Amino acid sequence: MIPVTKPFLPPQEEYVEFLDGIWTRQWLTNMGPLASKLEMELKDYLGVKHLLYVTNGTVALQMAIKALGLQGEIITTPFSFVATTSSIVWEGCTPVFVDIDSDSLNIDPAKIEAAITPQTTAILATHVYGNPCDVEAIDKIAKKHNLKVIYDGAHAFGVTINGKSIFEFGDVTTCSLHATKLYHSVEGGLVVTNDPDLLKKMASIRNFGISGFDSFAELGINGKNSEFHAAMGLANLKWADRIIERRQAIISLYEENLKGLKAQRPVWHKGSKTNGAYLAYIIESEELLLKIKSTLDEHEIFTRRYFYPSLAASLPYLEPIEMPITDDIAKRMLCLPLYFELTDEDVDWICRLILRTQNN
Ligand SMILES: *Cc1c(COP(=O)(O)O)cnc(C)c1O
Repeated sequence: MIPVTKPFLPPQEEYVEFLDGIWTRQWLTNMGPLASKLEMELKDYLGVKHLLYVTNGTVALQMAIKALGLQGEIITTPFSFVATTSSIVWEGCTPVFVDIDSDSLNIDPAKIEAAITPQTTAILATHVYGNPCDVEAIDKIAKKHNLKVIYDGAHAFGVTINGKSIFEFGDVTTCSLHATKLYHSVEGGLVVTNDPDLLKKMASIRNFGISGFDSFAELGINGKNSEFHAAMGLANLKWADRIIERRQAIISLYEENLKGLKAQRPVWHKGSKTNGAYLAYIIESEELLLKIKSTLDEHEIFTRRYFYPSLAASLPYLEPIEMPITDDIAKRMLCLPLYFELTDEDVDWICRLILRTQNN
C-alpha cells in the first residue's frame, strides 16, 4: 500500500531525549521552555522576526482575524483547504470569493478590486502547495484600499521569495504544523508578523486575554500548545532540511518520468522554488484523472483530489457560487503520493502505471 502522504517520525530516541526534562520540570504546557525554544529555533530557521507557536493552523487563522479586528467581508480564495474559509465564518465575517489564476492556482490579483465593497476589511490568500501568491500585487491593492492582508501559509514552510521568507509578507502569515504537513509537531501552528504590537496582541489572545493574576485585557482563546508537541517540533526541525531535499528530489523524479503525461503543473513564482509540500498535476480531463485514479486505487496506491470541490460551491453554510477557473481546475487536480520514505522504485512504478493507463 502506498498512501498519498505519510507523517514523518524522527528516530524515537530523538523524541524521547526531550522527555526527561519534561518529567524533571513537570511543566507540561502554557508556554513552557520547549515551546519557547521551538519559537526561537523556528525564527532562526525561517528567518523571521516574530512568531508564536500555537495550537494548530486553524486557530492561527482565527487569532489573526481576531487580532486584526476584522469585520464585514474578507476577500479569499475558493481553492484551498476548508479551514481558510471556515475560520472567516467562525470569526463572524463573510468570505467573498475571488477566482484563482489558472497558472499559479493562487487568488488572481487582477480580479480582487472588482470584489471590494465598502464592507471589505481584508484579503486572506493561500500560498497553494507552497507556491507564493503575487504578494506585490496583493500588497499594492491592500494599500490602495486600506485593507489588511493575511496569508494562509499552511503549505509554505521554508519557502522564500528571492531569499526572503514568504512568512514576512502581509500583516500576518499563519502556518500549520499538522502531522500531514511537510514539517510538523503532530498538531501545531504558527502566527508570524513583523508588527511587534500585533505580536503582543496575539500573545495575549493565545492565553485567554489574561493580563495578570486577576485581570483580563481582552477577549481571548486557548491557542497554546504543549511541551510534548514542542518536543516533536524540535526533534523534527533537525530533519527539516533533509525532509525538504528528499521531497524535492522525489518531485524531480516524478517530473522526469511523467513528461509524457497529458497534464500541467502549477506555474511557480519566479523568485521561488518548491519546498516539496505537494505534487499536484492538472490532468488534461476529469475523465483521464478518474481513469488514472481508479487504476492506482486498484494497486493500493492512493492519490487525493486536493482541493476538490471548490470551497465556493461545497460548504453547507454558504450560498454556492460558480468560480469558472477554480471549478475547472478542481475537477482535474490530482495530488500524487509524496512523503520522505517514498522510494525511487515506488515513484518509477507509480509513473509507469499512470502512463500505461493514459496510453491504453
Ligand atoms: C492544513 C491546512 C490548514 C489547517 O491547519 P490545521 O493545523 O490542520 O488546523 C489551513 N489551511 C490550509 C491551506 C491547510 O492546508
